[in-house]
Amino acid sequence: MKVYVNGEFFDKENAKISVFDKGFLYGDGVFEGIRAYDGKIFKLNEHVNRMFDGAKVIMLEPPITKEEAKEIIIETFRKSDLRDAYIRPILSRGIGDLGLDPKKAKKASFVVIVDKLEMYPREIYEKGMSVITATTARARHNTLPPSVKSLNYLNNILAKIEASNYGVPEAIMLNTEGFVAECTGDNIFLVKNGVLITPPEEAGILMGITRATVIEIARKHNIPVQEKLFPRTDLYIADEVFLTGTGAEVVPVVEIDKRQIGNGKRGELTTFILNEYRKLTQLEGVAVK
Ligand code: PMP
Repeated sequence: MKVYVNGEFFDKENAKISVFDKGFLYGDGVFEGIRAYDGKIFKLNEHVNRMFDGAKVIMLEPPITKEEAKEIIIETFRKSDLRDAYIRPILSRGIGDLGLDPKKAKKASFVVIVDKLEMYPREIYEKGMSVITATTARARHNTLPPSVKSLNYLNNILAKIEASNYGVPEAIMLNTEGFVAECTGDNIFLVKNGVLITPPEEAGILMGITRATVIEIARKHNIPVQEKLFPRTDLYIADEVFLTGTGAEVVPVVEIDKRQIGNGKRGELTTFILNEYRKLTQLEGVAVK
């Protein structure tokens, strides 16, 4: 395993960053989670674009260009001995003083970690997952913008703690109006009468790259898709529910707040989308090794 830190490659034990880095002090920065399958990096452009968009929103000047970021990500993956990997690029504000002012940090840091990650046990993809709705609301657009994948994940972590307290792996987060937004680290879809429905950007979500891929798969196979606001009650009475994310891929949900979803088994459309997604991950991507 290799870690890139500001121009150099280190082993896991020696990959370090200053305690004065504002990413550590204040969660001031942005990051990505990318997967590589069988030597190919999936959706590299999309992830790097989202990271640079996030950096622009928080006025963080990356120390490298987009092209350089891609090359460094590729190189860090190449140096690892993994063919299937989870890649974590991080842009943090860099070293400054103990105050909040980002201008005190003269140069942003760029870090790339390549590791393995199994988000959920294998059997969950067959049997489905049980989730709860968190009492912690998803941040509003005028607080901590949900569309920016910032290093400040406490909003999501508070909901994750609720899930963990209830003994389930994931929690659904509503926005402050009570509409379904997303999960702590995944987007959410429901299936009703053959139609795929997922919350729109205004619900307060990260615009997931897996979400976009699933929408593309559905459109290609003439499965109707709607992006619209819905309350959590629509989830309880859905035929199927599934989550999407780079780490998690496509996860069937069979129980929400103790209500069985559909027939309590992984749904037909969920199975189709899961299989098509897995096919794509094997076919597409930037070939590195
Ligand atoms: N929402 C949140 C809050 C996330 O952290 C993630 C994971 N990056 C997602 C959704 C899914 O996004 P993607 O499909 O791009 O991984």
